[in-house]
Amino acid sequence: MKKICVLGTGMAGWGAAHHLRMAGETPVLFDKKDHYGGHTASFLREGQFTFDEGPHVSFTSHERLQKLFAEQIDQKYETLHTKVNNYWRGHWVKHPAQINLYGLPPQTIIDVIRDFVEAQNKQHGEIVNYEQWLRASFGHTFAEQFPMDYTIKYHTTEAKNMSLDWIGPRLYQCKLEEVLRGALLPATPDVHYISGFRYPSHGGFVSYLRRFMDSSDVRLSHSLESIDPKAKQVRFKNGVSVPYDGLVSSVPLPDLIPAIQGAPREVREAAARLSCSEVVIVNLVVDRRDLVDAHWTYIYDRDVFFTRVSTPHLQSPHNVPPGCGSLQAECYYSKKYRPLDRTPDECIEPTIRDLKKIGVLRETDRILYRETMHIDYANVIFDLERADALAIVHGYLDELGIAYCGRYGDWKYIWTDESFISGESAAEKILGR
Ligand SMILES: Cc1cc2nc3c(=O)[nH]c(=O)nc-3n(C[C@H](O)[C@H](O)[C@H](O)COP(=O)(O)OP(=O)(O)OC[C@H]3O[C@@H](n4cnc5c(N)ncnc54)[C@H](O)[C@@H]3O)c2cc1C
Repeated sequence: MKKICVLGTGMAGWGAAHHLRMAGETPVLFDKKDHYGGHTASFLREGQFTFDEGPHVSFTSHERLQKLFAEQIDQKYETLHTKVNNYWRGHWVKHPAQINLYGLPPQTIIDVIRDFVEAQNKQHGEIVNYEQWLRASFGHTFAEQFPMDYTIKYHTTEAKNMSLDWIGPRLYQCKLEEVLRGALLPATPDVHYISGFRYPSHGGFVSYLRRFMDSSDVRLSHSLESIDPKAKQVRFKNGVSVPYDGLVSSVPLPDLIPAIQGAPREVREAAARLSCSEVVIVNLVVDRRDLVDAHWTYIYDRDVFFTRVSTPHLQSPHNVPPGCGSLQAECYYSKKYRPLDRTPDECIEPTIRDLKKIGVLRETDRILYRETMHIDYANVIFDLERADALAIVHGYLDELGIAYCGRYGDWKYIWTDESFISGESAAEKILGR
């Protein structure tokens, strides 16, 4: 039996530890926080309001994982058909906006279609950044007025500063006929890549992890201090030192690398060049359920304080008491491109102000609960520096035999299921298979 340490108790830590246990090992999981789950943690507030660490729904298409997750909660989950909205300059637009232009100002529709046709019929040179990709895919008007504005709000940097290797199905690429149909008709087929999702009926998203974590050797409040890769020893800030034969880490790379004794300067500098957004989540409970008829809404306008708003009470009715509704608004920052310029709680007032401005909240609403959560690693920013810096960091960890995984170990824009699978792959490396 090997001594295997798994750093992190989120989806990647779970995937790794689950895989190791299936192989007959008994890994020990460590986490700096006093609770497990990482980004998939959930919190019961005032004994009645459930909030996840940012909105989390499970839309995995892997049947194996659907089955595994469902087993953890004795099949007690909600199955929902995804409803996604956009808010753009006073208009509520079905997602994706490019094929749902109906009801927008006529001149906008004309400009979008004209530029779309022009872009489709033009030879584009080599496309090396996201802005060029947006212009070539959708035409100038749509690119500039929709995703380029959203990029600044969500990724905190300009589209011209971003690469293309994260896009995947995230941006729907449409045909002219779809654009025309969506401009002329009020109803269009659903094409969102997340067509439906599951969500635990009780206890929030973390319920998926609870049974596994409660039956594992999990050591909370163990924040990584240093790793001695020669002696194969991990030291935590609480003074505990643990020897290891195998080490799996889902700790964010910019924090992991400086903790490794003897990490060369070039690798430390590369890790410092990796950028990630951070997010302040404003959680609200209101004395009314009919707040927005969407599971989440993308907000394009730069003068609206938050970037996305979602509705936990629509994920499971048990997330709030009867007659109440809940909202989670996400406000994005990043150390490199848009440093957080206030305390997280100072995000509450402008969020409520702008929820009223866009018509989600009414003056007469009673806010029964309000709080903020600050997530210091949210979305990996695929800026133009990422790929080269990441190759250096991953190359070094491979040399040391430290198996990195998850969103902040792989340093990718991946979802819960992909993070779990990434953990499984890291475990495979440790098992030497
Ligand atoms: C706002 C938001 C909404 C999202 N919504 C969805 C969604 O709806 N559906 C979906 O599938 N995915 C969603 N995701 C993505 C999803 O959260 C991630 O893919 C997944 O949870 C990442 O898991 P992980 O284990 O890789 O990382 P994490 O969950 O971050 O786990 C890493 C763990 O390492 C611990 N750790 C960090 N540093 C140290 C240290 N120094 N010492 C010890 N421990 C440490 C952390 O405390 C944490 O527990 C969302 C992400 C965000 C930010």
